[in-house]
Amino acid sequence: MDLSRIPRRRYTPFATPLEFMPNFSRALAQGCPGGKGPNVWIKRDDMLGLFPGGNKTRKLEFLVADAMAQGADTLVTCGAPQSNHCRITLAAAVKEGLRCRFVIEERVPNSYNEDASGNHFMFRLLGVEAITVVPGGTSMAEAMQRVAAEVEALGRKAYIIPGGGSNALGGLGYVACAQELQQQFFEQGVSIDRLVVGSGSSGTHGGLLAGFLGNHIDIPIVGIGVSRDPADQEPLVHKEAQAVADLLGMQMKIPRESVVSIGGYWQPKYSVPNPAMVEAVQMLARTEGIPLDPVYTGKIMAGLIGQARKGFFKPGENLLFLHTGGLPSLHAYEREVLGKAPVAR
Ligand SMILES: *Cc1c(COP(=O)(O)O)cnc(C)c1O
Repeated sequence: MDLSRIPRRRYTPFATPLEFMPNFSRALAQGCPGGKGPNVWIKRDDMLGLFPGGNKTRKLEFLVADAMAQGADTLVTCGAPQSNHCRITLAAAVKEGLRCRFVIEERVPNSYNEDASGNHFMFRLLGVEAITVVPGGTSMAEAMQRVAAEVEALGRKAYIIPGGGSNALGGLGYVACAQELQQQFFEQGVSIDRLVVGSGSSGTHGGLLAGFLGNHIDIPIVGIGVSRDPADQEPLVHKEAQAVADLLGMQMKIPRESVVSIGGYWQPKYSVPNPAMVEAVQMLARTEGIPLDPVYTGKIMAGLIGQARKGFFKPGENLLFLHTGGLPSLHAYEREVLGKAPVAR
């Protein structure tokens, strides 16, 4: 697969680190059957560009290139009140001299707060042009069309980026990541047995899966749902992986059984803290000095920890955790993460 033929902006001038986590692996083993657990590695996609970057940075390299090719001057996208995707889209817009508007979906009633910290603070700092807040369950596609029409009425040209940047083009960012990983495995002499990734709007999981299959990287991927259980999540990921494969002309049917996700760890609700997330965030911070976030990576790591303790992974297997970023929202949940505020059970 030759991604070099597809227009792309570059927002990260290096490969993100691939590192072994010895202290975390030792701490994890203590709670695993027989005191033996997996060797856990980490891919630091929290260090991507458009600081503080995250998985959306990779997707936006292709999406923003497309927007600019079409002559757009305004990016329109959507997300939750603490959306990393909105923040990174806005940062890309600033860097490219474009303007940016959001539709924010209040999935948890009254969770939108004009003065909130974390990503919301970043929206204002980076200079978002306009934010439209809509109640949970609203059609985001229609709401973004309305915002685009407002932009066009001003004589400007809008480019709509779907939630999470998860369409076929955005998924290419994680095909690029698959190729970057393949190179790192080769150069560092690392043999990974399985990869754990968050699974939300599915561009990351689906793009990575298409990239692994297309590049003959024979590593199973386990997605940890951040908002859905497997019955709802897996068809979404399958569709995304197929769309990416089709865009690249891979001429292959993505095997349905290659899409594996695990539910439960996101409960009680998307973005709402739970005790396993708090434990995971504290554990990685205090063993490796690496921050996770409460909405995504904390719950994804809680899934890795929980599955390891259940004996889901083989003792001594090389397990790769993909850190997808999310740092700013940590600041919106400081008391919960330090155990100073109660969290749902
Ligand atoms: C958006 C996001 C995810 C989920 O990725 P999708 O491609 O939407 O499935 C995971 N982690 C972080 C930090 C995110 O911002």
